[in-house]
Amino acid sequence: MARIVQKYGGTSVGDVDRIKNVARRIKAIRDAGNELVVVVSARAGVTNELIARAKAVCPEPSEREMDQLLSIGEQETIALTAMALHGCGVEAVSYTGAQAGIFTDKVHTKAKIKTINAAPIERDLKAGKVVIVAGFQGINEEGHITTLGRGGSDLTAIALAAALKAKCEIYTDVDGVYTADPRVVKDAQKLDEISYDEMLELASSGSKVMQSRSVEFAKKYDTNFEVRSSFNQNPGTLVKEEVAYMEKVVVRGVAVDKDQAKVTVSDLRDEPGSAAKVFRALADASIIVDMIVQNVGHDGLADLTFTVPLVDSEKAARTLKPVLQQGGGEVSVTGGIAKLSVVGVGMKTHSGVAATLFEALAANRINIQLITTSEIKISVVIGLDRADEAARIAHGAFELGK
Ligand code: ADP
Ligand code: ASP
Ligand code: MG
Repeated sequence: MARIVQKYGGTSVGDVDRIKNVARRIKAIRDAGNELVVVVSARAGVTNELIARAKAVCPEPSEREMDQLLSIGEQETIALTAMALHGCGVEAVSYTGAQAGIFTDKVHTKAKIKTINAAPIERDLKAGKVVIVAGFQGINEEGHITTLGRGGSDLTAIALAAALKAKCEIYTDVDGVYTADPRVVKDAQKLDEISYDEMLELASSGSKVMQSRSVEFAKKYDTNFEVRSSFNQNPGTLVKEEVAYMEKVVVRGVAVDKDQAKVTVSDLRDEPGSAAKVFRALADASIIVDMIVQNVGHDGLADLTFTVPLVDSEKAARTLKPVLQQGGGEVSVTGGIAKLSVVGVGMKTHSGVAATLFEALAANRINIQLITTSEIKISVVIGLDRADEAARIAHGAFELGK
């Protein structure tokens, strides 16, 4: 008998038939004698629909009210999944994030999980029930509903698996983690395994198969998890601690992030403390900054360019305006960009990865606007219109297809 946390994503519970399909899968695992906690997402499209409705009534909705609203998507699915299980004779009980004891900090729309009180779930498991938990949501110490950022049901599942010392399985609409998004790169290959660090870099670079914060959490608590399909029984991809032989592969995968914007702060005073002021203000507004480039100063002034998530770009400009009014400088936001990244732990021990990537892009006349590197990743900003093509080019340049 094993204790398993399974997570089913939005497409897997996309309609009534799919919810019934998930219930049948759960019943089979339960009948084999396993203890089961099931995390479900909102039906595919529901979260986006709710966001669109919020924007239709108010262009800049309050983040607290956003969380009140978005949490209902998952609340629908937990109840329907529990009912579907009752329908096939399985004892099951559904819990919202708060009822499941998931306590978060106060940051609405991207809260962090602080603690989990697993006692209620433990009690139900002991009583032989399947426990269905709403993904993507928790409660803060003041009793307000919070959400964990887009794709946050992954985080709910991994955090519950860590708290309950359970095996973790993430069920989605593809067979596992591929060398690139299989919907964009037709010859992308499914990986049997991948290290936490590589998965983290791919996820934070736009591979939306896993939420990046969930991978961060899994690495921190060394919670292995498997990504696999809810539509078949194929083995998936195991995400785990890095082992020596993984370094033999130089590039494990390619990712594209189309949800980024470029922010330029021009004519900033070229003196100690200028950059600090800019990034402190953005940090205090909970805006995640990536790919920072500062050009060589001229006449005592410097330009600073960085990328932020597209959804936060207007907020970034708004946040910086008063800061720059005191210290000098202008802020501008540019959309229409994408970030292309190649990732692999083998980069630590191999040279020439940047040269290969840049040559492949150059041969196809794709212009590079910004570059950053980490020990296991190279990222470039390019035009949005060439993003998918660039992913295929990079995938081919590193011979990741068959
Ligand atoms: P879920 O609703 O189950 O959470 P998501 O839509 O969030 O599913 O993530 C699954 C999708 O991620 C796939 O349909 C695929 O198009 C996309 N994807 C992007 N990059 C990758 C990759 N490297 N491997 C697998 N899927 C990827
Ligand atoms: N429903 C949420 C979203 O669409 C959370 C999730 O699906 O993981 O982002
Ligand atoms: Mg997802």
